[in-house]
Amino acid sequence: MSNHLQEALETLKGTGVRITPQRHAILEYLINSMTHPTADDIYKALEGKFPNMSVATVYNNLRVFREVGIVKELTYGDASSRFDYVTTEHYHVICESCGKIVDFHYPGLDEVEKLAAHITDFDISHHRMEIYGTCPDCTAKKAH
Ligand SMILES: [Zn+2]
Ligand SMILES: [Zn+2]
Repeated sequence: MSNHLQEALETLKGTGVRITPQRHAILEYLINSMTHPTADDIYKALEGKFPNMSVATVYNNLRVFREVGIVKELTYGDASSRFDYVTTEHYHVICESCGKIVDFHYPGLDEVEKLAAHITDFDISHHRMEIYGTCPDCTAKKAH
């Protein structure tokens, strides 16, 4: 079992969230996949293991994880939400052709938040930044 999974399970226990086999499997999938899956992706990957599980169940469990703070829901445009296991802060590079999301580690732009607070007198909570382009796979396909 990975450290991340163990940590996540500890957090769930600490908040009194019951760890069902489905929740365990969803978390494990999310932590091991680097693809920022949608609820539908997770459902398709796990339906063989849990024939009685529905997409709605997957979504509800992801919502529980989000409320506890171990999972982030990513919404970009009108595509369905993607989910990301929360580790260290990171930004996302998004492919405009296939929608792939890749993690991009860069120190948080805290100065921008400080400057925004200073100039506008807002109490800043967070910011989001997305970087767009064409992924190597799509670039290669276009070249053929
Ligand atoms: Zn692509
Ligand atoms: Zn990510």
